[in-house]
Amino acid sequence: MQGDPDSGPLDLTSQLSTADLDATLAEADICVWSLDLITERVTCTETCARLFGIARKDLTDLASFQALLHPEDRQARADAIEHVRHHGGTYEVDYRIVRPDDGRTCWLRSRGRVQSNAQGHPVRHRGVVFSIDAQKHAEAEQKKIEAALRAREAHLQSVLDTVPEGMIVIDAQGVIQAFSPAAERLFGRPADETIGQNVRILMPEPVRSAHDGYLDRYRRTRERHVVGTSRLMTGQRRDGATFPMKIAVGEMRSGDQVFFTAFVNDLTEQHQTQARLQELQAELAHVSRLSAMGEMASTLAHELNQPLGAISSYTTGSMRLLARGDPAVNPQIRQALGKAAEQALRAGQIIRRLREFVSRGETATRAEAVSQLIEDASALALIGAREQGIAIRVGLDPQVDAVLADRVQVQQVLVNLLRNACEAMQQSDRRELVITARPAPPDRVAITVADTGPGIAEEVAARLFQPFVTTKPTGMGVGLSICRTIVEAHGGRLTLERNGPEGATFCMTLSAARRGGPAAR
Ligand code: ADP
Repeated sequence: MQGDPDSGPLDLTSQLSTADLDATLAEADICVWSLDLITERVTCTETCARLFGIARKDLTDLASFQALLHPEDRQARADAIEHVRHHGGTYEVDYRIVRPDDGRTCWLRSRGRVQSNAQGHPVRHRGVVFSIDAQKHAEAEQKKIEAALRAREAHLQSVLDTVPEGMIVIDAQGVIQAFSPAAERLFGRPADETIGQNVRILMPEPVRSAHDGYLDRYRRTRERHVVGTSRLMTGQRRDGATFPMKIAVGEMRSGDQVFFTAFVNDLTEQHQTQARLQELQAELAHVSRLSAMGEMASTLAHELNQPLGAISSYTTGSMRLLARGDPAVNPQIRQALGKAAEQALRAGQIIRRLREFVSRGETATRAEAVSQLIEDASALALIGAREQGIAIRVGLDPQVDAVLADRVQVQQVLVNLLRNACEAMQQSDRRELVITARPAPPDRVAITVADTGPGIAEEVAARLFQPFVTTKPTGMGVGLSICRTIVEAHGGRLTLERNGPEGATFCMTLSAARRGGPAAR
């Protein structure tokens, strides 16, 4: 090789001894070989024997090299060599060999060229061979890793494509990086149009304008408001329509970059179901009021008959007195007419309460005087109670003033509890009904209804507030379940406070309020 015009900087090579070159090439694991094209004999360095895993004496000609190649790679190397023999130039070819000494398959790379004499005839073929096994293994390893990554990515993508929640990834500036197919459906926006935009476009005002500020605040303070939790928010579709959504946000760091991933759930259907459920409950409460009224109809008629009968007697008497034409009876007539007017008012009041009670008005809570609630409910529920020998006592703690309540609904609870109490005492010797109201600190009022009936039957007690639980032949068993729904919708509680052979006590708590506001009565 020494002095070869093609082998690089001549001046340096000429200063190196052949021994130096051999040693350097051997240290670099580079085999050098040369093939005399006239004799077809090969000479090569010791490194060749090491690389091919065979004794140097067995590497005598090109065929002995070719025989060591992996059968699949043999042709490619033969073609490359053939090509330069006919056309000149250099070649580089990678191939596998199967080492005869240990049977291992290793990757090698050959670079070579064909040298011609002055007449242009090819005379010598020479080249180098070195191992690229480590590189090929690293490449194979890399390919394996890439394939595994691609498989994982495809798996993740298929999961994200099918989960019903929409997934949105944003960077620290709020720029959308990923937008799943479910998110496309939820927000009515294609991913390719949405990725790259600021996430605020998915929210209505006022959050839309404030969102950059939220991200900024989080960057500065790391105070978590949405990150790491799930929250109810409003989303906005491309057509401007808004919808309730639950979003769960997680934070992810990749290098020094921060990303936020949000999973979005559309709550429209859930809200609609809830609204329908509330409608149905209100309907049921109304039906239950009507049915209570139906059951009470005869006693109500009796109650109305009393003032109407009295009015009739007072007016008939007054007419009789008038017929006398005697001015001396005028004060008597005035008194009788005054009494008739009082009775007319009483009848009117009963009808007013009835009408209110069976009304289907909107739910509206306001400060209601506890005394008035108890008086109105008792007036309806306890009609005829005195005739049954029931002694009624009302104990109002002077500290109790008003509660936050929907009047008709809370009256319904009281009427229900009072009627249950009266019905429970029908067979009792002692018939006492006690209604009390007391403060329940810190901010509640407890209203209790106690009776001296036999108490709640064991088989009923455990399921008392469930619908359709009744021991009465004509009972619907929905009274107490509706009562509990009503009280809980008020933020209060309805419980069985005491139960035993001496009777039952129900207790309802409601938020205390102060009267005097514009809404108070
Ligand atoms: P209904 O009155 O139509 O049966 P409720 O839900 O109001 O429906 O009551 C369910 C059951 O609870 C009643 O059938 C009765 O057995 C029992 N109950 C309710 N209140 C009392 C009470 N004060 N004393 C004894 N049992 C009661």
